[in-house]
Amino acid sequence: MLAAHAQIIAIAPAAINRAVPVFTGAGAWTLDMVLLFMLLLCLCASYSEGFAFAFGGAAAATRLGSVKVRMAKELPEPQLRIGHGFDIHRLVEGTKLVVGGVTIPFHLGADAHSDGDAMYHSIVDAILGALTCEGDIGQLFPDNDPTWKGADSSIFMKEAYKRMDKRGYRIGNLDITLILQTPKVKDIKAAMKSNIVELLNTCDNRVNIKARTHEKVDSIGESKSYACHVVVILEKNN
Ligand SMILES: [Zn+2]
Repeated sequence: MLAAHAQIIAIAPAAINRAVPVFTGAGAWTLDMVLLFMLLLCLCASYSEGFAFAFGGAAAATRLGSVKVRMAKELPEPQLRIGHGFDIHRLVEGTKLVVGGVTIPFHLGADAHSDGDAMYHSIVDAILGALTCEGDIGQLFPDNDPTWKGADSSIFMKEAYKRMDKRGYRIGNLDITLILQTPKVKDIKAAMKSNIVELLNTCDNRVNIKARTHEKVDSIGESKSYACHVVVILEKNN
């Protein structure tokens, strides 16, 4: 098709130049009309080819798309799945601060429908994300459902574990980053980790908790909120 276009570009100036004397030069019009006619034929053929190519491509894409869907349905579960979870809660007076299942003595607590445990919530979302087609924690436990008012977030962890186990997976490793300006959680990280290991039926060397401040900037740094990031690898049970 590209070659045909190149020919047209080469022919066109000559045809146009020669077409000028069609209406002025006696006897020259027949050859010029033939050239113009050939040019029109080339253009029609070229565009027809282009349309055919375009329609053919669309049909091929459709065929490829259907093959892709068919293959996806036939693929076995992968050996490894990765998931990411993130959660943030405002810190307010008059509520408890529960992180990783541990109640931290502090004058502020999470503003949440449940107990506001951002670490557990982000772990649950990471596991659901890794499993795919499982939605997110907000879909499973809506924050307008009175059932979950003030709920202990270990309930959500147990549900995530149940779903993971049912699909034939276990924790490969869990990497947690807690972002809390204050207070320091260095002394309670072991208790948080112990809770997580137990709830997810895994072992110590598969869970790590990193904690950091937010350098006193933004809402987290000003202790108006706290957040948590989680990355999880799930591995298939043999
Ligand atoms: Zn949350």
